[in-house]
Amino acid sequence: MTYVVTENCIKCKYTDCVEVCPVDCFYEGPNFLAINPDECIDCGVCIPECPVDAIVADQDLTDEQRPYLAINAELSKLWPVITKRKAPLPDADTFKDVKNKGNLLER
Ligand code: SF4
Ligand code: SF4
Repeated sequence: MTYVVTENCIKCKYTDCVEVCPVDCFYEGPNFLAINPDECIDCGVCIPECPVDAIVADQDLTDEQRPYLAINAELSKLWPVITKRKAPLPDADTFKDVKNKGNLLER
């Protein structure tokens, strides 16, 4: 089992989640964060921290969200770790309610 960052995070990157992770398993890309499934200990403390409900336990993923399981596994191994909160992206508030923005994910 693991927790997964899903589409809502794209172009938001509020980063509230990274401060609470006890094992520092969030990795930062240009406009998205990914959780390393091999490091996540399934504690769930990051879930309520995310203001856009982007973090989901793998068994709770919808069919639409399921591709993010592989996306997190792949991208978390390519990107640097992030452990400290930083300012969200400048257009985060504009994009937080936008649906179907998966094509905007930058690698
Ligand atoms: S708090 Fe949510 S939107 Fe912000 S970086 Fe974490 S997962 Fe992404
Ligand atoms: S569930 Fe726990 S270990 Fe996994 S990413 Fe969230 S805070 Fe980190």
